[in-house]
Amino acid sequence: MTETATNEQLAVATPQKNQINEHGLLRYGKMLIDGQWVDAASGETFEAIYPGTGKTIAHVASGAAADVDVAAQAARRAFDNGPWPKMNGSERAKLLWKIADLMEQNIEELAELETLNNGKPLLESLRVDLPQSIACFRYFAGWSGKVMGQTIEPEARANAICYTLREPVGVCGQIIPWNFPIQMAAWKIAPALACGNTVVIKPAEQTSLSILRLGELMMEAGVPNGVVNIVTGFGATAGAALVEHPEVDKIAFTGSVEVGKIIMRSAANTLKKVTLELGGKSPNIVFADSNLELAAKYALSGIFFNQGQMCTAGSRIMIERSARDQFMEVLTSRAKKMTVGDPLNMKTRMGSLISQEQMNRVLGYIEKGKQAGAALVAGGERVGSEGYFVQPTVFDEVQHEMEIAQEEIFGPVASVITFEDVNDALRIANGTRFGLAAGVWTNDIKKALTFAKNVHAGTVWVNTYNMTDNALPFGGYKESGIGRELGPAALEMYTHTKTVWVELG
Ligand code: NAP
Ligand code: MG
Repeated sequence: MTETATNEQLAVATPQKNQINEHGLLRYGKMLIDGQWVDAASGETFEAIYPGTGKTIAHVASGAAADVDVAAQAARRAFDNGPWPKMNGSERAKLLWKIADLMEQNIEELAELETLNNGKPLLESLRVDLPQSIACFRYFAGWSGKVMGQTIEPEARANAICYTLREPVGVCGQIIPWNFPIQMAAWKIAPALACGNTVVIKPAEQTSLSILRLGELMMEAGVPNGVVNIVTGFGATAGAALVEHPEVDKIAFTGSVEVGKIIMRSAANTLKKVTLELGGKSPNIVFADSNLELAAKYALSGIFFNQGQMCTAGSRIMIERSARDQFMEVLTSRAKKMTVGDPLNMKTRMGSLISQEQMNRVLGYIEKGKQAGAALVAGGERVGSEGYFVQPTVFDEVQHEMEIAQEEIFGPVASVITFEDVNDALRIANGTRFGLAAGVWTNDIKKALTFAKNVHAGTVWVNTYNMTDNALPFGGYKESGIGRELGPAALEMYTHTKTVWVELG
């Protein structure tokens, strides 16, 4: 029997690190535009929810086209006339570093806010999301002023000196999802600023709070007015207006494939630069010659970390037939021992899904899996009646063609597929419209490298899973996206290359 959390365990604790007002709410009701904290032009707000209980925790400003316009104009002025793009790289680096220091000084407050708004375990917010976000600002601080062009000998004429300049793209519109709110903000804001761009960022409607607090810290650090603007609001209004705005030079988006396609179509009207980090259905392939215990342990964290709400989730666990029984025994017994609990309790390892909508979507896929004839071997149910908790769920005997093997569920649902050999594994691994990440478990170096070479994925993990690092490029093949974030690759996405030809003849 899967252990489940009791309703008492799921009750909200009062925030310890964040103040609540006389209405029992957190204080985040305004947006950051041009260095000022402002209401939406419409005066409207919407509710931020604590997914652990489904209760309202704040009223957030509902930004729309008029607010995006003011923010985009402010970012334009800050880029065209402000000190930011002309500042020495080392000065910009100092500010990025200062943001990181302030985040570190306020790490407990930020981590709690992240958990209150997202439902992920506080332990993860504190030990993973926040440290990685802080490190991201520091990593890109190091690049500030070190993004360099080249001198290139022209092919056709010797009597000329030609070189390239790397210049910021301009005003960057950034649209981010709810699964790693502050980390997604860091991945987008830090490289944009390091390269001298200005930013208008729209958080996901579900998760604005930690990004608004980050905005306060950026102001405190001394980021000039208009350099970072935060417009809270909905995708179809604020998000769409940002993509359409003529003063926005680039859109960086992370989210669903469907919205990614809408954004790309809309951005075509003004021919904005577009980078997209979209979904996945990543295979985690276990060969019989690997350390099966370790592979099972990582297979579970690969799908259940962040309640499965990860673009890189190892949602297709693939096992070689000859090791199937042994592997499934470990995987299933471990999965059954995993429990969900109060996200604010530091002992909790799995928290709540983001929303009722997402929970229903996930439960819908579980139903589809059962109907398609896959074998439910762990979980499968909602936990409790408050909040949006779903048991860690494992389907065995999944066929490659089933919906649960092809579509991104974005929840704690693993589909186990059995394969015969390397070629069969590759065929199945590459047989979806996605190509974000892949894992391979084997002690045979040839097999590992052959696999890494032939799998269609932006990241391949050998004998590990879900490792990302601020220094390593991250992005997708096929419908998983366009462009790369993090590492030196991110700098390409936030700069133009200008060619200068100096004729000497
Ligand atoms: P989503 O709609 O793609 O949301 C991502 C971001 O895009 C949010 O800020 C959203 O705003 C905004 N947006 C939505 N429609 C837009 C539009 N027409 N123009 C501009 N921006 C727009 O994702 P979701 O609805 O939150 O989640 C649905 C599914 O997407 C999930 O189940 C999962 O499969 C996938 N997803 C993937 C990732 C990833 O990291 N790859 C992250 C999140 C979700 P609103 O929040 O206000 O809608
Ligand atoms: Mg949405």
